[in-house]
Amino acid sequence: MPTPSSTSDVVVVGGGIVGLAVAWRAATAGLSVTVLDPAPGDGATHAAAGMLAAVSEADFGERELARLNLASAARWPAFAADLAVATGHDVPLLRAGSLAVAYDADDLALLRRVLALHREWGLASAEVPVADARRREPYLGPRLAGAAVVEGDLAVNPRATHAALAHALGDAVVRRTAVRLERDAAGRAVAVHDDAGSRHAAGAVVLATGAGTTSALLDGVPEVRVPVRPVKGVTLRLDAGPELPLEHVVRGTVQGRPVYVVPRGAGTGAGPGSGPGHREIVVGATSEERPDDRRAEAGGVFALLRDARALVPGIDEAALVDVTPRARPATPDNLPLVGATAVPGLLAAVGHGRNGVLLAPLTADAVVAALTGAPPPDDTHDALAAADPRRFAPATTEGALP
Ligand SMILES: Cc1cc2nc3c(=O)[nH]c(=O)nc-3n(C[C@H](O)[C@H](O)[C@H](O)COP(=O)(O)OP(=O)(O)OC[C@H]3O[C@@H](n4cnc5c(N)ncnc54)[C@H](O)[C@@H]3O)c2cc1C
Repeated sequence: MPTPSSTSDVVVVGGGIVGLAVAWRAATAGLSVTVLDPAPGDGATHAAAGMLAAVSEADFGERELARLNLASAARWPAFAADLAVATGHDVPLLRAGSLAVAYDADDLALLRRVLALHREWGLASAEVPVADARRREPYLGPRLAGAAVVEGDLAVNPRATHAALAHALGDAVVRRTAVRLERDAAGRAVAVHDDAGSRHAAGAVVLATGAGTTSALLDGVPEVRVPVRPVKGVTLRLDAGPELPLEHVVRGTVQGRPVYVVPRGAGTGAGPGSGPGHREIVVGATSEERPDDRRAEAGGVFALLRDARALVPGIDEAALVDVTPRARPATPDNLPLVGATAVPGLLAAVGHGRNGVLLAPLTADAVVAALTGAPPPDDTHDALAAADPRRFAPATTEGALP
Protein backbone atom coordinates (compact mmCIF):
# COMPACT_ATOMS: atom_id res chain seq x y z
CA MET A 1 0.00 0.00 0.00
CA PRO A 2 1.44 3.42 -0.91
CA THR A 3 2.55 5.58 1.98
CA PRO A 4 0.48 8.75 2.23
CA SER A 5 2.01 11.88 0.80
CA SER A 6 3.35 14.30 3.37
CA THR A 7 4.44 17.89 3.76
CA SER A 8 7.26 18.76 6.15
CA ASP A 9 9.76 21.53 6.76
CA VAL A 10 12.50 18.94 6.24
CA VAL A 11 12.66 15.55 4.53
CA VAL A 12 15.73 13.58 5.55
CA VAL A 13 16.68 10.81 3.12
CA GLY A 14 18.39 8.09 5.16
CA GLY A 15 17.71 7.02 8.72
CA GLY A 16 21.12 5.93 9.97
CA ILE A 17 22.61 7.60 13.02
CA VAL A 18 23.49 10.71 11.01
CA GLY A 19 20.05 11.14 9.42
CA LEU A 20 18.21 10.53 12.68
CA ALA A 21 20.50 12.88 14.63
CA VAL A 22 19.80 15.62 12.08
CA ALA A 23 16.05 14.88 12.10
CA TRP A 24 15.83 14.83 15.89
CA ARG A 25 17.77 18.08 16.37
CA ALA A 26 15.66 19.66 13.60
CA ALA A 27 12.48 18.53 15.35
CA THR A 28 13.66 19.92 18.68
CA ALA A 29 14.39 23.21 16.89
CA GLY A 30 10.68 23.33 16.00
CA LEU A 31 10.80 22.03 12.41
CA SER A 32 8.44 19.32 11.16
CA VAL A 33 10.40 16.36 9.78
CA THR A 34 9.96 13.21 7.72
CA VAL A 35 12.69 10.60 7.45
CA LEU A 36 12.63 8.14 4.54
CA ASP A 37 14.51 4.85 4.92
CA PRO A 38 13.45 1.30 4.02
CA ALA A 39 15.63 -0.15 6.81
CA PRO A 40 16.49 2.54 9.36
CA GLY A 41 19.66 1.78 11.32
CA ASP A 42 20.63 -1.21 9.19
CA GLY A 43 23.51 0.53 7.40
CA ALA A 44 26.96 1.31 8.79
CA THR A 45 25.32 2.32 12.06
CA HIS A 46 24.54 -1.35 12.72
CA ALA A 47 28.23 -2.31 12.54
CA ALA A 48 29.79 0.68 14.29
CA ALA A 49 31.70 -0.06 17.47
CA GLY A 50 30.79 3.33 18.89
CA MET A 51 34.22 4.71 19.66
CA LEU A 52 34.01 8.49 20.07
CA ALA A 53 37.77 8.66 19.78
CA ALA A 54 38.64 12.12 18.54
CA VAL A 55 42.22 11.84 19.79
CA SER A 56 42.94 8.20 18.97
CA GLU A 57 41.49 8.65 15.48
CA ALA A 58 43.77 11.63 14.70
CA ASP A 59 45.93 10.50 11.82
CA PHE A 60 48.63 11.84 9.54
CA GLY A 61 47.25 14.15 6.84
CA GLU A 62 43.84 14.45 8.53
CA ARG A 63 44.16 17.64 10.52
CA GLU A 64 40.78 19.06 9.40
CA LEU A 65 39.06 15.78 10.22
CA ALA A 66 40.66 15.84 13.68
CA ARG A 67 39.23 19.33 14.25
CA LEU A 68 35.75 18.17 13.27
CA ASN A 69 36.08 15.08 15.45
CA LEU A 70 37.17 17.11 18.47
CA ALA A 71 34.31 19.58 18.05
CA SER A 72 31.80 16.74 17.81
CA ALA A 73 33.27 14.76 20.71
CA ALA A 74 32.79 17.84 22.89
CA ARG A 75 29.08 17.79 21.97
CA TRP A 76 28.47 14.11 22.79
CA PRO A 77 27.82 14.42 26.56
CA ALA A 78 25.05 17.01 26.05
CA PHE A 79 23.68 15.13 23.03
CA ALA A 80 23.44 11.88 25.03
CA ALA A 81 21.95 13.64 28.06
CA ASP A 82 19.34 15.51 25.98
CA LEU A 83 18.37 12.31 24.18
CA ALA A 84 18.00 10.43 27.45
CA VAL A 85 15.75 13.17 28.85
CA ALA A 86 13.67 13.32 25.66
CA THR A 87 13.11 9.57 25.41
CA GLY A 88 13.66 7.99 28.82
CA HIS A 89 16.23 5.73 27.07
CA ASP A 90 19.56 5.64 28.86
CA VAL A 91 22.39 6.61 26.49
CA PRO A 92 25.44 5.83 28.63
CA LEU A 93 28.88 7.07 27.62
CA LEU A 94 31.97 5.02 28.46
CA ARG A 95 34.27 7.65 29.95
CA ALA A 96 37.26 5.57 31.09
CA GLY A 97 39.28 6.58 28.00
CA SER A 98 41.34 4.46 25.62
CA LEU A 99 44.50 2.48 26.13
CA ALA A 100 46.61 2.41 22.98
CA VAL A 101 48.88 -0.61 23.03
CA ALA A 102 51.67 -1.93 20.83
CA TYR A 103 52.31 -5.64 20.41
CA ASP A 104 55.91 -5.64 19.18
CA ALA A 105 58.79 -3.23 18.70
CA ASP A 106 57.62 -2.10 15.24
CA ASP A 107 54.12 -1.49 16.61
CA LEU A 108 55.68 0.60 19.39
CA ALA A 109 57.64 2.66 16.87
CA LEU A 110 54.34 3.40 15.08
CA LEU A 111 52.61 4.25 18.36
CA ARG A 112 55.40 6.71 19.21
CA ARG A 113 55.06 8.41 15.81
CA VAL A 114 51.34 8.83 16.44
CA LEU A 115 51.97 10.19 19.96
CA ALA A 116 54.41 12.72 18.46
CA LEU A 117 51.66 13.80 16.04
CA HIS A 118 49.31 14.23 19.00
CA ARG A 119 51.89 16.46 20.72
CA GLU A 120 52.30 18.55 17.57
CA TRP A 121 48.51 19.05 17.34
CA GLY A 122 48.12 19.70 21.09
CA LEU A 123 46.10 16.51 21.70
CA ALA A 124 46.21 14.88 25.13
CA SER A 125 47.83 11.43 25.12
CA ALA A 126 50.79 10.02 27.03
CA GLU A 127 53.03 6.99 26.79
CA VAL A 128 53.03 4.99 30.02
CA PRO A 129 54.96 1.91 31.16
CA VAL A 130 53.14 -1.30 30.25
CA ALA A 131 52.91 -2.09 33.98
CA ASP A 132 51.03 1.17 34.49
CA ALA A 133 48.62 0.34 31.63
CA ARG A 134 48.09 -3.09 33.19
CA ARG A 135 47.29 -1.50 36.57
CA ARG A 136 44.56 0.51 34.82
CA GLU A 137 43.33 -2.50 32.82
CA PRO A 138 44.39 -5.82 34.41
CA TYR A 139 43.07 -7.83 31.47
CA LEU A 140 45.76 -6.74 29.00
CA GLY A 141 47.79 -9.53 27.45
CA PRO A 142 51.19 -10.61 28.86
CA ARG A 143 53.22 -9.71 25.78
CA LEU A 144 53.03 -5.99 24.96
CA ALA A 145 55.90 -3.75 23.84
CA GLY A 146 54.36 -0.44 24.90
CA ALA A 147 51.26 1.48 25.89
CA ALA A 148 49.73 4.94 26.03
CA VAL A 149 46.66 6.44 27.67
CA VAL A 150 44.15 8.69 25.94
CA GLU A 151 41.96 9.93 28.76
CA GLY A 152 39.55 12.01 26.67
CA ASP A 153 38.22 9.31 24.33
CA LEU A 154 34.60 8.28 24.89
CA ALA A 155 32.46 5.41 23.58
CA VAL A 156 28.73 4.82 23.14
CA ASN A 157 26.46 2.02 21.93
CA PRO A 158 25.41 3.11 18.41
CA ARG A 159 22.54 0.62 18.13
CA ALA A 160 21.05 1.79 21.43
CA THR A 161 21.55 5.44 20.48
CA HIS A 162 19.86 4.84 17.15
CA ALA A 163 16.95 3.13 18.88
CA ALA A 164 16.55 6.14 21.20
CA LEU A 165 16.58 8.53 18.24
CA ALA A 166 14.01 6.40 16.39
CA HIS A 167 11.83 6.39 19.51
CA ALA A 168 12.08 10.18 19.76
CA LEU A 169 11.05 10.58 16.10
CA GLY A 170 8.19 8.05 16.19
CA ASP A 171 5.95 8.19 13.10
CA ALA A 172 8.22 10.71 11.41
CA VAL A 173 10.32 7.77 10.20
CA VAL A 174 8.72 6.29 7.05
CA ARG A 175 10.03 2.93 5.83
CA ARG A 176 10.39 3.81 2.17
CA THR A 177 13.21 4.30 -0.32
CA ALA A 178 13.58 7.76 -1.83
CA VAL A 179 13.75 7.37 -5.60
CA ARG A 180 13.56 10.89 -7.02
CA LEU A 181 14.19 14.46 -6.03
CA GLU A 182 11.74 17.03 -7.38
CA ARG A 183 12.82 20.59 -8.18
CA ASP A 184 10.65 23.61 -8.98
CA ALA A 185 11.04 25.91 -11.98
CA ALA A 186 13.69 27.92 -10.14
CA GLY A 187 15.70 24.75 -9.46
CA ARG A 188 14.93 24.52 -5.75
CA ALA A 189 14.53 21.06 -4.17
CA VAL A 190 10.87 20.91 -3.15
CA ALA A 191 9.93 17.24 -2.71
CA VAL A 192 11.12 13.67 -2.58
CA HIS A 193 9.26 10.77 -4.24
CA ASP A 194 9.40 7.34 -2.64
CA ASP A 195 9.22 3.83 -4.08
CA ALA A 196 5.52 3.53 -3.20
CA GLY A 197 4.74 6.49 -5.46
CA SER A 198 4.17 8.97 -2.63
CA ARG A 199 5.33 12.56 -2.81
CA HIS A 200 6.90 14.10 0.28
CA ALA A 201 6.85 17.87 -0.10
CA ALA A 202 9.65 19.59 1.80
CA GLY A 203 10.88 23.04 2.70
CA ALA A 204 14.33 21.44 2.48
CA VAL A 205 15.78 18.01 1.74
CA VAL A 206 18.76 16.54 3.59
CA LEU A 207 20.73 13.70 1.97
CA ALA A 208 21.88 11.33 4.71
CA THR A 209 22.22 8.21 2.60
CA GLY A 210 25.49 6.89 4.03
CA ALA A 211 27.27 4.66 1.54
CA GLY A 212 24.05 4.18 -0.46
CA THR A 213 24.06 5.23 -4.07
CA THR A 214 22.60 8.65 -4.87
CA SER A 215 22.82 8.39 -8.66
CA ALA A 216 19.06 7.90 -9.24
CA LEU A 217 18.08 10.52 -6.67
CA LEU A 218 20.48 13.08 -8.12
CA ASP A 219 19.72 12.23 -11.73
CA GLY A 220 18.28 15.68 -12.41
CA VAL A 221 20.77 17.49 -10.20
CA PRO A 222 24.00 17.90 -12.20
CA GLU A 223 25.22 20.70 -9.91
CA VAL A 224 25.69 18.34 -6.96
CA ARG A 225 28.19 15.54 -6.70
CA VAL A 226 28.29 13.13 -3.76
CA PRO A 227 31.51 11.15 -4.26
CA VAL A 228 30.93 8.57 -1.55
CA ARG A 229 32.38 5.09 -1.93
CA PRO A 230 31.82 2.03 0.26
CA VAL A 231 34.66 0.73 2.44
CA LYS A 232 33.58 -2.60 3.85
CA GLY A 233 34.26 -3.43 7.47
CA VAL A 234 33.31 -6.19 9.90
CA THR A 235 32.79 -5.95 13.65
CA LEU A 236 32.22 -8.83 16.06
CA ARG A 237 30.04 -8.76 19.17
CA LEU A 238 30.99 -10.96 22.08
CA ASP A 239 29.13 -11.71 25.28
CA ALA A 240 31.67 -11.71 28.13
CA GLY A 241 30.92 -13.01 31.60
CA PRO A 242 31.73 -11.39 34.96
CA GLU A 243 35.31 -12.74 34.81
CA LEU A 244 36.17 -10.13 32.13
CA PRO A 245 35.03 -6.75 33.51
CA LEU A 246 36.94 -4.74 30.92
CA GLU A 247 36.64 -0.99 31.52
CA HIS A 248 38.68 0.70 28.79
CA VAL A 249 38.61 0.75 25.04
CA VAL A 250 41.79 -1.10 24.07
CA ARG A 251 43.18 -0.14 20.66
CA GLY A 252 46.38 -1.38 19.23
CA THR A 253 48.41 -2.72 16.39
CA VAL A 254 49.53 -6.32 16.28
CA GLN A 255 52.41 -6.72 13.84
CA GLY A 256 51.13 -3.73 11.92
CA ARG A 257 47.45 -4.74 11.89
CA PRO A 258 45.05 -2.39 13.70
CA VAL A 259 42.48 -3.91 16.05
CA TYR A 260 40.26 -2.65 18.88
CA VAL A 261 38.26 -4.06 21.76
CA VAL A 262 35.35 -1.90 23.00
CA PRO A 263 33.51 -2.88 26.19
CA ARG A 264 30.00 -1.76 27.13
CA GLY A 265 28.73 -1.55 30.71
CA ALA A 266 27.70 -4.56 32.79
CA GLY A 267 24.27 -5.91 31.89
CA THR A 268 24.69 -5.40 28.15
CA GLY A 269 25.59 -8.98 27.20
CA ALA A 270 23.25 -10.78 24.86
CA GLY A 271 24.46 -14.35 24.42
CA PRO A 272 22.68 -17.54 25.39
CA GLY A 273 22.94 -17.80 29.19
CA SER A 274 23.86 -14.14 29.50
CA GLY A 275 23.22 -12.65 32.94
CA PRO A 276 23.40 -9.30 34.74
CA GLY A 277 27.21 -9.45 35.10
CA HIS A 278 27.65 -10.01 31.39
CA ARG A 279 28.67 -7.28 28.99
CA GLU A 280 28.91 -6.75 25.26
CA ILE A 281 32.42 -6.46 23.88
CA VAL A 282 32.89 -5.28 20.30
CA VAL A 283 35.96 -6.35 18.36
CA GLY A 284 36.83 -4.58 15.12
CA ALA A 285 37.39 -3.95 12.40
CA THR A 286 38.39 -5.12 8.96
CA SER A 287 38.71 -2.56 6.17
CA GLU A 288 38.41 -3.30 2.46
CA GLU A 289 37.88 -1.05 -0.55
CA ARG A 290 34.68 -2.68 -1.74
CA PRO A 291 30.90 -2.61 -1.27
CA ASP A 292 29.08 -4.33 1.54
CA ASP A 293 27.95 -7.73 0.24
CA ARG A 294 26.79 -8.73 3.73
CA ARG A 295 29.38 -11.53 3.77
CA ALA A 296 31.90 -11.84 6.58
CA GLU A 297 34.79 -13.96 5.32
CA ALA A 298 36.13 -16.50 7.80
CA GLY A 299 39.69 -15.26 7.29
CA GLY A 300 38.80 -11.72 8.33
CA VAL A 301 36.91 -12.89 11.42
CA PHE A 302 39.80 -15.20 12.33
CA ALA A 303 42.35 -12.38 12.01
CA LEU A 304 40.29 -10.03 14.16
CA LEU A 305 39.91 -12.59 16.93
CA ARG A 306 43.58 -13.63 16.74
CA ASP A 307 44.78 -10.02 17.04
CA ALA A 308 42.20 -9.03 19.68
CA ARG A 309 43.17 -11.96 21.91
CA ALA A 310 46.81 -10.91 21.67
CA LEU A 311 45.74 -7.67 23.40
CA VAL A 312 43.02 -9.07 25.69
CA PRO A 313 43.40 -12.87 26.05
CA GLY A 314 40.28 -13.15 28.25
CA ILE A 315 38.04 -12.82 25.19
CA ASP A 316 38.77 -16.53 24.57
CA GLU A 317 36.09 -17.36 27.12
CA ALA A 318 33.47 -14.99 25.68
CA ALA A 319 30.66 -16.12 23.38
CA LEU A 320 30.71 -14.87 19.80
CA VAL A 321 27.14 -13.67 19.29
CA ASP A 322 27.16 -11.40 16.25
CA VAL A 323 29.25 -10.84 13.13
CA THR A 324 28.31 -7.66 11.26
CA PRO A 325 29.65 -6.62 7.85
CA ARG A 326 28.66 -3.15 6.58
CA ALA A 327 30.16 -0.34 4.48
CA ARG A 328 31.67 2.88 5.77
CA PRO A 329 30.67 5.86 3.60
CA ALA A 330 34.10 7.19 2.57
CA THR A 331 35.00 10.31 0.54
CA PRO A 332 38.08 11.20 -1.54
CA ASP A 333 39.51 13.47 1.19
CA ASN A 334 38.19 11.53 4.22
CA LEU A 335 36.05 14.52 5.22
CA PRO A 336 32.24 14.37 5.29
CA LEU A 337 29.89 16.52 3.22
CA VAL A 338 27.93 18.64 5.70
CA GLY A 339 25.66 21.60 4.94
CA ALA A 340 24.18 23.44 1.96
CA THR A 341 24.82 22.19 -1.57
CA ALA A 342 24.83 24.24 -4.77
CA VAL A 343 21.08 23.55 -5.11
CA PRO A 344 18.75 25.68 -2.97
CA GLY A 345 16.81 23.57 -0.50
CA LEU A 346 19.18 20.58 -0.80
CA LEU A 347 21.62 19.87 2.02
CA ALA A 348 24.09 17.06 2.60
CA ALA A 349 24.99 15.05 5.70
CA VAL A 350 26.94 12.16 4.15
CA GLY A 351 30.38 10.66 3.79
CA HIS A 352 31.32 10.30 7.45
CA GLY A 353 33.65 7.38 6.80
CA ARG A 354 34.96 5.68 9.92
CA ASN A 355 33.71 8.45 12.27
CA GLY A 356 29.99 8.88 11.63
CA VAL A 357 28.86 8.06 15.15
CA LEU A 358 31.40 10.46 16.60
CA LEU A 359 30.43 13.17 14.08
CA ALA A 360 26.64 12.84 14.43
CA PRO A 361 26.06 15.62 17.01
CA LEU A 362 28.19 18.20 15.19
CA THR A 363 26.65 17.27 11.83
CA ALA A 364 23.17 17.68 13.31
CA ASP A 365 23.98 21.09 14.80
CA ALA A 366 25.58 22.31 11.58
CA VAL A 367 22.73 21.12 9.34
CA VAL A 368 20.06 22.53 11.66
CA ALA A 369 21.90 25.88 11.70
CA ALA A 370 21.85 25.84 7.88
CA LEU A 371 18.15 24.91 7.87
CA THR A 372 17.11 27.62 10.29
CA GLY A 373 19.45 30.31 8.99
CA ALA A 374 21.30 30.47 12.30
CA PRO A 375 25.07 31.03 12.22
CA PRO A 376 27.05 27.76 12.34
CA PRO A 377 28.24 26.67 15.76
CA ASP A 378 30.97 29.13 16.89
CA ASP A 379 33.80 26.76 17.63
CA THR A 380 33.54 24.96 14.31
CA HIS A 381 33.60 27.58 11.59
CA ASP A 382 36.93 26.60 10.00
CA ALA A 383 36.46 22.87 10.46
CA LEU A 384 33.01 22.99 8.88
CA ALA A 385 34.35 24.99 5.94
CA ALA A 386 36.51 21.96 5.13
CA ALA A 387 33.35 19.80 5.05
CA ASP A 388 31.50 22.09 2.62
CA PRO A 389 29.70 19.80 0.10
CA ARG A 390 30.36 22.35 -2.67
CA ARG A 391 34.05 21.40 -2.70
CA PHE A 392 33.00 18.50 -4.94
CA ALA A 393 30.89 20.61 -7.32
CA PRO A 394 31.49 19.39 -10.89
CA ALA A 395 33.54 22.44 -11.90
CA THR A 396 36.13 21.80 -9.22
CA THR A 397 36.27 18.02 -9.06
CA GLU A 398 39.48 16.13 -9.25
CA GLY A 399 39.36 14.39 -12.61
CA ALA A 400 41.93 12.65 -14.73
CA LEU A 401 45.51 13.28 -13.73
CA PRO A 402 47.40 15.60 -16.12
C1 LIG B 1 32.89 -1.90 10.84
C2 LIG B 1 32.60 -0.47 11.17
C3 LIG B 1 32.98 0.06 12.40
C4 LIG B 1 32.74 1.41 12.68
N1 LIG B 1 33.08 1.91 13.92
C5 LIG B 1 32.84 3.23 14.18
C6 LIG B 1 33.14 3.78 15.46
O1 LIG B 1 33.61 3.09 16.35
N2 LIG B 1 32.91 5.10 15.68
C7 LIG B 1 32.37 5.91 14.70
O2 LIG B 1 32.19 7.11 14.94
N3 LIG B 1 32.04 5.41 13.50
C8 LIG B 1 32.26 4.09 13.22
N4 LIG B 1 31.95 3.59 12.00
C9 LIG B 1 31.45 4.50 10.97
C10 LIG B 1 29.97 4.75 11.15
O3 LIG B 1 29.30 3.53 11.30
C11 LIG B 1 29.41 5.51 9.96
O4 LIG B 1 30.21 6.62 9.63
C12 LIG B 1 28.01 6.00 10.29
O5 LIG B 1 27.19 4.94 10.70
C13 LIG B 1 27.40 6.70 9.11
O6 LIG B 1 26.07 6.97 9.44
P1 LIG B 1 25.03 7.31 8.32
O7 LIG B 1 23.73 7.55 8.98
O8 LIG B 1 25.61 8.36 7.42
O9 LIG B 1 25.02 5.99 7.41
P2 LIG B 1 24.25 4.61 7.61
O10 LIG B 1 24.21 4.16 8.99
O11 LIG B 1 24.83 3.68 6.58
O12 LIG B 1 22.77 4.98 7.20
C14 LIG B 1 22.43 5.37 5.88
C15 LIG B 1 20.97 5.02 5.69
O13 LIG B 1 20.53 5.57 4.47
C16 LIG B 1 19.56 4.70 3.96
N5 LIG B 1 19.41 5.00 2.54
C17 LIG B 1 20.35 4.93 1.56
N6 LIG B 1 19.81 5.29 0.39
C18 LIG B 1 18.50 5.60 0.63
C19 LIG B 1 17.42 6.04 -0.18
N7 LIG B 1 17.55 6.24 -1.49
N8 LIG B 1 16.22 6.26 0.41
C20 LIG B 1 16.06 6.09 1.73
N9 LIG B 1 17.05 5.68 2.56
C21 LIG B 1 18.24 5.43 2.00
C22 LIG B 1 20.09 3.30 4.25
O14 LIG B 1 19.03 2.35 4.28
C23 LIG B 1 20.72 3.51 5.60
O15 LIG B 1 19.87 3.12 6.68
C24 LIG B 1 32.13 2.23 11.71
C25 LIG B 1 31.71 1.69 10.50
C26 LIG B 1 31.93 0.34 10.22
C27 LIG B 1 31.44 -0.23 8.92
